[in-house]
Amino acid sequence: MQKTDIKNLTLQGLESYISGLGKERFRAKQIFKWLYQMDAGSFEEMTNVSKEFRSMLGEIAQISNLTPEVVEASEDGTRKYLFRLSDGSAVESVLIPDEGRNTLCISSQVGCAMGCAFCLTGSFGLSRNLTTAEIVNQVCAVKRDQPVNNIVFMGMGEPLANLKGVIPAVQILTDPDGFQFSTRKVTVSTSGLVPEMAELGRGCTVNLAVSLNATTDEVRSRIMPVNRTYPLAQLLAACKAFPLPSRRWITMEYVMIRDLNDSLEDAKRLVRLISNIPSKVNLIPFNEHEGCDFKCPTQESIDRFHKYLLDKNVTVITRSSRGSDISAACGQLKGRLDQEDGERRNCGCEG
Ligand code: SAH
Ligand code: SF4
Repeated sequence: MQKTDIKNLTLQGLESYISGLGKERFRAKQIFKWLYQMDAGSFEEMTNVSKEFRSMLGEIAQISNLTPEVVEASEDGTRKYLFRLSDGSAVESVLIPDEGRNTLCISSQVGCAMGCAFCLTGSFGLSRNLTTAEIVNQVCAVKRDQPVNNIVFMGMGEPLANLKGVIPAVQILTDPDGFQFSTRKVTVSTSGLVPEMAELGRGCTVNLAVSLNATTDEVRSRIMPVNRTYPLAQLLAACKAFPLPSRRWITMEYVMIRDLNDSLEDAKRLVRLISNIPSKVNLIPFNEHEGCDFKCPTQESIDRFHKYLLDKNVTVITRSSRGSDISAACGQLKGRLDQEDGERRNCGCEG
């Protein structure tokens, strides 16, 4: 019989699991604290749980874990962690320090099926969804190395295409008996899966980031196939309806690509599009990568775009490219690794 990985369970799930075993439900909170506040690696460590129950759990359940196979540190303090999963596939998490706070960018899938034309992760296609345990274990592992203040689901994958894994993970991250992150400190980013946005809002309380990336349906459909199914009007209506944590804004991510979406006209349309949505804009200059012909805009057009938004009282930040020396920048995840894997495969080495 396969053992239940209890890191796949939310607190509620663990309560049902435990009461199904004929034990007191309140044990779930104790176990949750051991897992996410004390980072227990075995049931044996859980000394406030009876010896008999601990050995029972040891028979039928397991506590999974991840340890980074590689940690790469960038000159600017960014750290990239590579995790090898039990089936041999790999995902990455990136820790980005900023003004004394550390933001951890985690993955939700191995690869991604959304096929955005500018994204390296997308070019690999989807291998599979991560389990809830694989998502929360990225956080457990990085916390052993560095403090983590914010979590963003902006690593590999489209989180809303894996709500089954992601919603319980958000619940564990924000549970007062779990990781204890404030709901204001966790952000899920989507390319714009409209029905799933509503489902996410029903399933948990979390910040939302939307990869808008264009201001017309024509351009957006060209670079993000999801727009052919859920065009801008539907996407923006879903943003408006999204139940954010109190006093929060939606983050509109906008990857700026030279001569495609970086004009002043785009800036003007962007302001109009988001005018009735409480939002802030993250401008992300395109990170160039091999096999993709798009170019990063000139600094002049980035500055002009940024200034136009500021002048219209839009809250905007231009995200500087972090960790570029270790390929940890947006949309770069897994690329270099796969290339290396490919090289290893080509030379017939098992490594
Ligand atoms: N799938 C989700 C979350 C992961 S992608 C989403 O698309 O929102 C995280 C962010 O990286 C997205 O805003 C995406 O538009 C951006 N991105 C992808 N490739 C990029 C690249 N080459 N340069 C800059 N940003 C990129
Ligand atoms: Fe997937 Fe996001 Fe990359 Fe699009 S930008 S391919 S949704 S990871």
